[in-house]
Amino acid sequence: MIRDTKPSTEAAAKAEPKPSNFLRDRIEEDVRNKKYGDAVVQTRFPPEPNGYLHIGHAKAICLDFGLADEFGGRTNLRFDDTNPEKEEQEYVDSIQEDVRWLGFEWEKLCYASDYFDQLYDWAIKLIKDGKAYVDDLTADQIRIYRGTLTEPGKESPFRKRSVEENLELFERMRKGEFPDGSRVLRAKIDMNSPNINLRDPVMYRILHAEHHRTGAKWCIYPMYDYAHGQSDSIERVTHSMCTLEFADHQPLYRWYIENIGIFPSQQIEFDRLNLTYTLLSKRKLLQLVNGKHVSGWDDPRMPTLSGIRRLGYTPEAIRNFVWAAGVSRTNGTTDIAMLEHFVREDLNKHAPRTMAVLRPLKLVIDNYPDGEVEEMEAVNNPEDPNAGTRKVPFSKVLYIEQDDFREEPPKGYFRLSPGREVRLRYGYFVTAKSVVKNDKGEVVEVHCTYDPATKGGNNPPDGRKVKATIHWVSAQHAMDAEVRLYDKLFSKSDPSQVEEGQDFTANLNPSSLQILTAAKLEPSLAGAKVGAHFQFERLGYFCVDRDSAPGRLVFNRTITLKDTWAKIEKRG
Ligand code: ATP
Ligand code: MG
Repeated sequence: MIRDTKPSTEAAAKAEPKPSNFLRDRIEEDVRNKKYGDAVVQTRFPPEPNGYLHIGHAKAICLDFGLADEFGGRTNLRFDDTNPEKEEQEYVDSIQEDVRWLGFEWEKLCYASDYFDQLYDWAIKLIKDGKAYVDDLTADQIRIYRGTLTEPGKESPFRKRSVEENLELFERMRKGEFPDGSRVLRAKIDMNSPNINLRDPVMYRILHAEHHRTGAKWCIYPMYDYAHGQSDSIERVTHSMCTLEFADHQPLYRWYIENIGIFPSQQIEFDRLNLTYTLLSKRKLLQLVNGKHVSGWDDPRMPTLSGIRRLGYTPEAIRNFVWAAGVSRTNGTTDIAMLEHFVREDLNKHAPRTMAVLRPLKLVIDNYPDGEVEEMEAVNNPEDPNAGTRKVPFSKVLYIEQDDFREEPPKGYFRLSPGREVRLRYGYFVTAKSVVKNDKGEVVEVHCTYDPATKGGNNPPDGRKVKATIHWVSAQHAMDAEVRLYDKLFSKSDPSQVEEGQDFTANLNPSSLQILTAAKLEPSLAGAKVGAHFQFERLGYFCVDRDSAPGRLVFNRTITLKDTWAKIEKRG
């Protein structure tokens, strides 16, 4: 894996790690052999607009757009909108926003519903060729007649209908003369096929439902399998990449294209992305939204692209993760720590450092002059020399983290405690002297002294050293903020693993969100914009949430600093 270490966003976009993968090899081979003559590589990303995109879709998007780009090809965004009952404009809009956010632009925006007339004409052709028929069996009967993996199917008594009768019935289906579910159009293939998908699959069903784009024009709708391959063919898709669950459908995909006699798009399957501690199924994510287990599709704990964007994940991090995770021909599960590693890696390069105190404890420097304010110079990003420095105000009364002081320090605790000296980052060395407690006996104020010879947090001339550096914020200059600490939404590595009678919601992590309302920030954060990323030194990466109001910022913790994946990798 070759990486450009220079902190340039352009280089980051271009120099993504791209380990070899079999999809690329296949495209490369087809281009070399001129399988499609001089036609450019054409791909498509085909979401059903029935939910928000999730991190699994990000993998498909990177492959569809990324590989086409590599070969100078093109990618369409196509909504596979054959299921009017579950589809909505809200989803269409969010999908477009998410694809663009990931950094891709489509050649054409397409809808399977734009092809309904063409698909209907091809159905007529198949009927005329004796390759499709209207069946009056009920859905239950069709299922029983279909047989099983071990038993062959049985032919429907309506299979031998004449072409004329089929044409007439199909036309009457279209005109709305029959109720929902009373008849279907089926392809006449092979009821004995070992592949159940070829046992006379349904092509059209009757559904008196309004479609988000075609309105009331249709009351028959093509099945996904009947629409997908032909839509690819209409768009002259050369490489139709999809996930492994479609592998058994590939013979049907080809049957339609060959029997209609149209552009030979080819389907190639790859493994779905699965992540530990994460559910990637729109149906289940919808259940979380409807059941109010989360605040919405873009709740920062959701694995949706809108959720992880709000949490503070960056498109670069997601793309780098997808390429590094690679593709395979068998499904597996990827450790979420790997995704988090790429998020840290990207934020480390780009997020400015700042100081923020989440759970404040007052620190008073008894020998520091009253009313004095010094501007301390702080480095914005040690990873990026061009990021420069800023001034942070220092004064007599500061806030430090409650965690950074212990009245009785346990063994191995090197931060502040009575008599102990520590470094205040960019400030001074201070030594704790005494504490003030409230009625409950809790420490509410720590008093200390400072050494003027350590300005900037530098070692004093006598060469004295300290074992800990802590962060701080000047009390009179601090900004108040709310900070939302997010943890995994599920407490089980495989959230779908449950006891009998339970569903995955039993595995929800009860402490996936903790809200801190009294955080104190250094004043340079005042103008921070929604979506801006920062490292709060020693605490993690944080991102400004859209719930922020003027004078009252809300931050989401994107991720802590500790990289578990790097350790896992080292172990090998
Ligand atoms: P879900 O199971 O979450 O409902 P889906 O497969 O029904 O997802 P589609 O809208 O049909 O969602 O997916 C669009 C494209 O994204 C398809 O080509 C599909 O193969 C791909 N895709 C969906 N989920 C994943 C995943 N987890 N990993 C990789 N690709 C995926
Ligand atoms: Mg689907």
